[in-house]
Amino acid sequence: MKFENTIDFAKQLDNEDPVKAFREKFYVPYIHKKDAIYFTGNSLGLQAKAVQEHILDELEDWASYGVEGHFYARNPWVSYHELFPPLLAPIVGAKEEELVVMNQLTVNLHLLMASFYRPTQQRYKIICEAKAFPSDQYAFDSQVKLHGFDPRNAVIEVTAAEGEASIGTERILNEIEKHGKETALVLFSGVNYYSGEVFDMESIAKAAHTAGAYCGFDLAHAAGNIRLALHDWEVDFATWCSYKYLNSGPGGVSGVFIHEKHATQKSFPRLAGWWGQNKETRFAMGREFDPIPTAEGWQLSNAPVLSMAAHKASLQIFEEAGFEHLLEKAAMLSSYLFFIIDEINASRKEKIIEIITPRDPEKHGCQVSMLMLKRGKEIFEKLKAESVIADWREPNVIRIAPVPLYNSYTEIFRFGEIISKLLANG
Ligand SMILES: *Cc1c(COP(=O)(O)O)cnc(C)c1O
Repeated sequence: MKFENTIDFAKQLDNEDPVKAFREKFYVPYIHKKDAIYFTGNSLGLQAKAVQEHILDELEDWASYGVEGHFYARNPWVSYHELFPPLLAPIVGAKEEELVVMNQLTVNLHLLMASFYRPTQQRYKIICEAKAFPSDQYAFDSQVKLHGFDPRNAVIEVTAAEGEASIGTERILNEIEKHGKETALVLFSGVNYYSGEVFDMESIAKAAHTAGAYCGFDLAHAAGNIRLALHDWEVDFATWCSYKYLNSGPGGVSGVFIHEKHATQKSFPRLAGWWGQNKETRFAMGREFDPIPTAEGWQLSNAPVLSMAAHKASLQIFEEAGFEHLLEKAAMLSSYLFFIIDEINASRKEKIIEIITPRDPEKHGCQVSMLMLKRGKEIFEKLKAESVIADWREPNVIRIAPVPLYNSYTEIFRFGEIISKLLANG
């Protein structure tokens, strides 16, 4: 499609948008006396209006039933987590038995590494991306040390080529091949949080398996953002948080995928807890651990129902909208944002914004990362004063993530207008 940098064109795209009505289902922050242009759904998704009602239902049932709510609540708490696999399966491309919702992301990374990172003297390396999210880096280093290895030679970070922001598939596959025999685990993000680069998960999983290693993904920036096919790609495991693109609220519950070839194996090593125990015998309080032969068998504790209620409200909106429709709009929104930023650069004597997110539609999701060549922090602060909520990452990157459920083409046009004005002054 040929884009235009005019308000009429942006409004026309909004009018033709098949999922435009969903914005009304969310609270958009009101800042400096106007509706914010909220471009940080990659950091904390907005609150769906339905969330309050879903949480209130549980508060009411708790008040009415006390402990009996485990069995008599409208959504019995004993099986509350079972509501999620059918809603998540189409979003991450998994079978229901491969999914469970539990804990939080970094906790789950550790639990999954307990199962899938079991190094030997010959195979002890973890291959990951350079500039992974810090929590992941800390998790990798601490796991390696826990097993008596030294992160300096056990954690292999694949870097981008000199002067490039994206790593690219070739460098990753080369590195896996190079360290193949010594590699226990390949663990990447699905979408790098800083550059917005989408990794070729299918090829990475294949290369890891060829090398004889397991392969997992941290999908914090991928779940609800890009098309995933975890089962078909034969990914061994994955985990994600639900408060970014999945809009489930601060500190919301995390999701886990474990491929059925592992999840069904009761003998697969894991850290165990009572909620992973066979449901028939869980309350017999017996001595022997007999895990549920699905991803549920990795659960430790009973479900955090109040935070899960927000997750349920949000995932029902994804279901109603249809994830495919959202993906189509997401691709259009980011294309329009690329176009608007190009227009800003073209209107100036010298380029001021370098887009470090790959332009290939297969290589990016909603997020577009702008490396500010000048005046970065100042422009970021001024955007905020104009009610544009973006995200700042040192040393000088502004991340912008228009999301299909509640952002519009008009907001992207307005963003272009505002940033052009700010750049013209000063
Ligand atoms: C957001 C994010 C986290 C945050 O972890 P929590 O345990 O949810 O606080 C971790 N890793 C990545 C890649 C992230 O994007």
